[in-house]
Amino acid sequence: MTSTVADAPVLDPMRVAQLAEYAVTSPLAATMTTFSPIDGARLADLPCSTPEDVAVAVTGARAGFRSWSRMPATSRAAVLQRFHDLVLDNQVELLDLIQLETGKTRTHAFAEIVDAALTARYLARRAPGVLRPRRRAGLVPVLTDVIETRRPVGVVGVVAPWNYPLSMAVSEALPALIAGNAVVIRPDPSTSLTMLMVAELLARAGLPQRVLQVVLGDGPVVGGAVLASTDYVCFTGSSATGREVAVGAARRLVGASLELGGKNAMYVAADADLDRAVPGAVEACFTNAGQVCISMERIYLHESIATEFLTRFVRRVSALRVGVDLAYGADMGTLSGPRQLERVTAHVEDARAKGAAVLTGGRPLPKVGPYAYAPTVLEDVSPDMRCAGEETFGPVVSVCRVGSDAEFVLAANDTEYGLTASIWSRDVARARGIAHLVEAGTVNVNDGFAVGYTAKDAPMGGMKSSGIGRRHGEAGILRFTEPQTIATARGVSPTMPTTAEAARYTTGVLRLLSVFGRR
Ligand code: NAD
Repeated sequence: MTSTVADAPVLDPMRVAQLAEYAVTSPLAATMTTFSPIDGARLADLPCSTPEDVAVAVTGARAGFRSWSRMPATSRAAVLQRFHDLVLDNQVELLDLIQLETGKTRTHAFAEIVDAALTARYLARRAPGVLRPRRRAGLVPVLTDVIETRRPVGVVGVVAPWNYPLSMAVSEALPALIAGNAVVIRPDPSTSLTMLMVAELLARAGLPQRVLQVVLGDGPVVGGAVLASTDYVCFTGSSATGREVAVGAARRLVGASLELGGKNAMYVAADADLDRAVPGAVEACFTNAGQVCISMERIYLHESIATEFLTRFVRRVSALRVGVDLAYGADMGTLSGPRQLERVTAHVEDARAKGAAVLTGGRPLPKVGPYAYAPTVLEDVSPDMRCAGEETFGPVVSVCRVGSDAEFVLAANDTEYGLTASIWSRDVARARGIAHLVEAGTVNVNDGFAVGYTAKDAPMGGMKSSGIGRRHGEAGILRFTEPQTIATARGVSPTMPTTAEAARYTTGVLRLLSVFGRR
């Protein structure tokens, strides 16, 4: 079940220094040391940005914005297409960095390469069409001509999390860039190297200097400075921090998109195909050691299939190979650090102390890595347990039996979150009917979360406390623009009547239009 890392991670200090060139820091910058969750060893020494450096980055981005925003969208698209190719060509180094910084498996790191490529290609192909001016209906055809254009907002500030350092950065930065904006991004301190390599690849793809600025440092100070000085803010992280970010954006009257937490529910209906649902549930709960905002933390089983599902599910989960090698092979990696291990342990121990049954797992795996934790299945979870309502963000799922579809819907919606859900049934129409009743931004039918997340043409984001705004799809591009209406009167201007008779005439026209008018 377990394997250990063959060699301690080693990073060439020259390469680290080369990547650090892409960060905006002053010559006398303080140093932050990062550690790999694979073995807890020192990984890299990186310079730290200050709030003054953030101000320099924003000024530089504003200068870069001027010419970038005037380029045709198709020219910006060409940069993204080249970035797509460079990500694929340089995947080995990217995979190593992602694994060293996060402790995830090679397979889960490769999912980030796939995601970055899908996002870049989608945006390169579709964004120019989405951004083009559109004719809108005026009051009087021919005599009025109304066009809606989309202007970039200016400098977009991004605070990115640590769990998917390539995917999350790309999901926010690329649509902002293709819409004509400049970007100032602060990656999580623990995953700065991956972001710096993204900046390097974008520069090699032809992104003009200054259009993307990377600053390094902690959340409240450096991330806070980014969010306090940019024209639109993108935040991915917990709902608690997201609320603070929203308040800051509201005070400055700038737009915000917030991708926050989840307590996602899966339903296995009475007629589900268990040959697909069991492996699907394993994937949905334990990908990236459960540190995925859209992973499933609650499984509701129809009582008629519950025992069979559980027997097969627990057997598979117990057989998962947890490992941290920089090679393909392991099924699940380690947690990302001590804070995550503490949280996961606290949730499981709280549940155990209050009477939950641990069907498998429920313990750290120090032989695998300092923060590794066994994939864990809990039953008999009651509402007073922390893991019942709070997001664990780790390899822990609770299972519960229900007597009907309606009982699942009630339970699934009984949470402050609304990010994603998953429904398994051989009757797709019935599953879709249930999906309409679930309060979640994405509902996956007969899949855990991949089918929804890889649909780059469809919006992705959270309802309720899981967020505001959407990434992916047209909405994910247009959030970084301000609509501008350019309305032209040809010859006559719409005027209001100044006599009772003219008002009666206008009223008659309005009545006729409501019967015969097209809009
Ligand atoms: P967190 O809110 O503590 O931190 C997230 C990021 O924000 C970190 O990089 C941190 O440095 C930074 N940060 C913290 N305080 C800040 C502040 N005041 N101003 C600016 N930046 C600040 O969350 P976490 O526990 O590190 O991350 C896990 C959470 O992120 C989970 O809730 C997970 O569901 C969520 N998440 C959501 C999505 C999504 O797309 N919906 C994706 C990934 C993670």
